[in-house]
Amino acid sequence: MTQRLPVIAIDGPAAAGKGTLARRLAEHMEYAYLDTGALYRGVALLVVQNGGDPSNPDQALSAARALDPTAIDGKAIRTTEIGAAAAKVAALAGVRSEILDLQRRFAASPPGDRKGSVLDGRDIGTVVCPDADHKIFVTASAEIRAHRRWLELREKNPQLAESQVLADLRERDRLDAERPIAPLKPAEDALLLDTTELAIEEAFETALALITEQKA
Ligand code: C5P
Repeated sequence: MTQRLPVIAIDGPAAAGKGTLARRLAEHMEYAYLDTGALYRGVALLVVQNGGDPSNPDQALSAARALDPTAIDGKAIRTTEIGAAAAKVAALAGVRSEILDLQRRFAASPPGDRKGSVLDGRDIGTVVCPDADHKIFVTASAEIRAHRRWLELREKNPQLAESQVLADLRERDRLDAERPIAPLKPAEDALLLDTTELAIEEAFETALALITEQKA
């Protein structure tokens, strides 16, 4: 049997700072990085581009099967509309099972011959890689998450109200946490990292310290 490569699982709600943290950790460890939310967003984008309904199981499953992870339009998926549609396709069993395979294949043989991987999402530590070597659940208050997301989105959409971003985020949290399949929740063995009061660099240093302590 080939030896399993190390995996770091970073989970948490929308805009908690998972992506930036996971990317920094991957760079530092020289591991491959997978943004699993981008896969669900990619599926949602395909459905929407085809004029479909993201809650329709057949349409969403066809899109999941057609998804080429290397061809996802990184800009087009970063909108509030596609975020909301992603939460809808992500609640469907068929879509989750397609995306599950993709994620596990990535962790088993990371691209570029990397010696390990960092995956960020909602269910990495609970479902995708329950045997991950390290699991961190990143949280922050809904208000601070909405503020950070608003600062990002405002560049493209100066009219956007922060209160609207907060309302959208709470709705997405609700859909992610209440869905029956792979809901958003910390794995029992996950370490919690609250970034409400932390700058990016502090969050990175804290996560690295948690990982190093866990190894020792
Ligand atoms: O992380 P991001 O906001 O890009 O994720 C978009 C949506 O994809 C989430 O709201 C969630 O519904 C879904 N998702 C998921 N499982 C993951 C990653 C994302 O259900 N592992």
